[in-house]
Amino acid sequence: MNILTFDIEEWFHILDTGVSRDEAMWDSFEARIHANVDRILGALSRRKGQRATFFCLGWIAKKYPDIIRKIDGYGHEIGSHTSMHQLVYEQGPARFESDVKDSMRRIEDIIGKKVVLFRAPGFSIGKNTPWAFECLARLGIQIDCSVFPAAHGHGGFREFGRGEPTIITYQGMSLKEFPINLFSFLGKNLVFSGGGYFRLVPYPLLSMLFKRSSYAMTYFHPRDFDASQKVIEGLSMARRFKSYYGLQSAFSKFERLLEEFSFSDVSGAAATIDWSNAPIVKL
Ligand SMILES: [Zn+2]
Repeated sequence: MNILTFDIEEWFHILDTGVSRDEAMWDSFEARIHANVDRILGALSRRKGQRATFFCLGWIAKKYPDIIRKIDGYGHEIGSHTSMHQLVYEQGPARFESDVKDSMRRIEDIIGKKVVLFRAPGFSIGKNTPWAFECLARLGIQIDCSVFPAAHGHGGFREFGRGEPTIITYQGMSLKEFPINLFSFLGKNLVFSGGGYFRLVPYPLLSMLFKRSSYAMTYFHPRDFDASQKVIEGLSMARRFKSYYGLQSAFSKFERLLEEFSFSDVSGAAATIDWSNAPIVKL
């Protein structure tokens, strides 16, 4: 089971800098999202049957509704990535819920379909924020893809303990969860299926890791393939490396991946699972 997902945000929506917190600054940056989304849609349309889920910001839907319409028009599914791309554990329950609600409303107004899929910015739902799953269920989200079950710059959720489709239960509610997959090697859990990790790993190794994984959840951003973007000022050395390493070759690697493997969207994958036998994680 290989699942293709994209978080649809601008090149400057990087969470490790004040820039990402301050919407007032966003309009002063160059818009690169149109060309970057077109590049992805073009690659997918050249390979028949490749389906993807696009987790879109409500901010993008408000500013560029044509992008949401175009993704939907190509037959891909659309989920929410909140409206304002803030860290969930910094927002707290009330702000988080209204942010997700706003994004769902904006996307639904454009595509005329209910939004039932979600991914949090920076995978920022963890063991201290189980209330976030409750908020999502209350809003009608049926499948969440926010769990990063390893250490991550924004916390991750190492205690989750599973890198496979799971049912989350918390205070009487339940939600289907598709976490990022892990590859166990020499006692370590490795991530390879998205972002900086994908750009770091050479293609032959990447191909081998995909072949050996019965479940792979990819996560890409339009900026992951944009070698001409400016470098955001003020990032730590580590974050700078992770954000910009391997940009020149990332898109050709992505295209090779599409040639070699078949991908489905999240709903397509969910439909093939016998959920009555899926593992349950009680929070
Ligand atoms: Zn994001």
